[in-house]
Amino acid sequence: MIPNSTAARDVAYLLHPYTNLSAHRESGPLVISRGKGIHVYDEEGREYIEGLAGLWCAGLGFDQERLVEAASRQMRQLPFYHAFGGKVPDVLVDLAEALMAIAPKPLERALFVNSGSEANDLAVKIAWYVNNALGRPEKKKIIARRKAYHGVTVMSGSLTGLAYAQDGFDLPVSRVVHVDTPHHYHGAEPDESEEDYATRLAEQLEATIQAEGPETVAAFIAEPVMGAGGVIVPPRTYFEKVQAVLRRHDVLFIADEVICGFGRTGNWFGCDTFGIRPDIMTVAKQLSAGFLPIAATLVSGPVYEALVAGSDKHGMFGHGNTYGGHPVAAAVALETLKIYHEMDIVGRVRRVGTALQEGLRRYIDHPLVGEVRGLGLIAGVELVADKASRTNFDKARGIGAGLVRRAQAHGLLTRAMPGDLIGFCPPMIIDEAGVAEMLRRFDVALEESWSALR
Ligand code: PLP
Repeated sequence: MIPNSTAARDVAYLLHPYTNLSAHRESGPLVISRGKGIHVYDEEGREYIEGLAGLWCAGLGFDQERLVEAASRQMRQLPFYHAFGGKVPDVLVDLAEALMAIAPKPLERALFVNSGSEANDLAVKIAWYVNNALGRPEKKKIIARRKAYHGVTVMSGSLTGLAYAQDGFDLPVSRVVHVDTPHHYHGAEPDESEEDYATRLAEQLEATIQAEGPETVAAFIAEPVMGAGGVIVPPRTYFEKVQAVLRRHDVLFIADEVICGFGRTGNWFGCDTFGIRPDIMTVAKQLSAGFLPIAATLVSGPVYEALVAGSDKHGMFGHGNTYGGHPVAAAVALETLKIYHEMDIVGRVRRVGTALQEGLRRYIDHPLVGEVRGLGLIAGVELVADKASRTNFDKARGIGAGLVRRAQAHGLLTRAMPGDLIGFCPPMIIDEAGVAEMLRRFDVALEESWSALR
């Protein structure tokens, strides 16, 4: 590394999230200096398609003058205010109203925070608070799924079902129970239909709730499509059957829409795509197109009424963050939602998403590819060592990571997830030509990886 370069100073001063720290000391960072449309540029000016919209968040790409203007207007008018103690910045009310206009039923109200992790933490606190208010203090366990990604705080990191987010941190904490990942490709028996597999998973959920004691289970949390666990689309009828089990045992459904929200799956929310009626829902990322940190936890009418009862008992609803619902972030989110409406984001994702899904499904016959999955503008290609037995490569070989490095060299940034799953979640402004170019770059990397293995 050149002394005093950005890379050298990065190694000297930064502690990197989700990074192998000793490898990073040797390799240094990829320094990104600017962005435009679906592209970002490194400090040498090399252009990359951002195939994962950064961290699944930059839904409108990397330059949007209207968002810049919304932020600077708000900064001039009211750069900080909060919603504690019954006050409120006016723009936050506008945002809450705009969010409720598109939120799935029966959600009614939102509390704003700064990140998806905080929103999920709050969702759990709300489930606990509600059950205390309803006089059932034992009903506190949360059921999550293996391979789920719900964040990194002590509780959201416990809900996450991925070893890499828990190893060394003494997570998960108690009160969290994990059930199976709903992944037909690996989880189903030979010849088991998606519907039968979904029935079996719902029965397993039922058995878990019975074993734990229904009077101890507060909530079930799920991403409609699992993102960081490997873009896992649930089998047909899964959520319908899961919701029937939850209703029987009075268990709340927390929908984590941090990735799926705001058009990504070809509807406003993943809940719409899968017929989920959540009691609590969390949103972040594309809420502000990633331009500023803002997230929210939404609650249904009955959950809200229980919160009111709890607040009467305790004297207040005792939760809030200094920067939760920050007016500048709220102004940017409000403008983001306006842009989504104007560009008909749902229609656009359906149209361009078809090009992405059809384009990727062409690889299903490739000798390295086991499964291609996804919907709307989120997709994944899973690499396997043996197609017939659906066996993955030994993790230590880093086959997926190698492909991602090659893709980077060809101007495509994406990510390898557990099980050598290559993820695609481009900015939703991408068009058919952008998809074609992204797939061309992926194609070159895939062929290079395949040649290296032969
Ligand atoms: N939930 C899901 C589905 C996510 O993908 C993420 C982040 O990737 C989170 C929650 C956590 O959000 P944050 O990183 O903003 O804390």
